[in-house]
Amino acid sequence: MNDSAILCPLCGEGRLVEHAYERDFNIEDHAYVVFGLRHSLCSHCGEDITTPDQSRHNKRTIIEARNQAVAERDRAQRLVPADILRIRKTLGLTQVQAARVFGGGPNAFGKYENAEVAPSDGMEKLLRLADQVPEAATWLMRRAGLPAPSLTPCSREKECVVLRRLIKDSFRPTHSTASNFGSPST
Ligand SMILES: [Zn+2]
Repeated sequence: MNDSAILCPLCGEGRLVEHAYERDFNIEDHAYVVFGLRHSLCSHCGEDITTPDQSRHNKRTIIEARNQAVAERDRAQRLVPADILRIRKTLGLTQVQAARVFGGGPNAFGKYENAEVAPSDGMEKLLRLADQVPEAATWLMRRAGLPAPSLTPCSREKECVVLRRLIKDSFRPTHSTASNFGSPST
């Protein structure tokens, strides 16, 4: 299909001419640009139109670019030995305990922290998860038979407290307050 031959549906006078454009995107803090997106502009009234074909092309292009950006970000943000040491210390674990929690064998963390071995992608994700999601760290440590980490409360922890309160409140009858709940209505 040749877009340049399509008559503008708005003014009926101009022809739609296809143009390429680019757009900025973000994954968390990682910025990237998607090039080669397509739309059409009317040569007469300037109306901006995206045809179904262009829309499909744009979606595909954006998905491919996002996958590539995720891979690039992961490569750029590889955990270095100092990161692994910091995460382990934050969780209050010895190297042997860390291996019990995360796997990799009893000598794994000594090797990671001395830059003898790089952790696998899966291990990196697990360490990031335990570092950034306190509930995940707690789950992993309890599962390894260790006491839950005593982490300083962060904003996520506050959200949890709010959520717990909301859940508790939702079990209360809406037509009466907590003080007269259970007392006879007569
Ligand atoms: Zn037009």
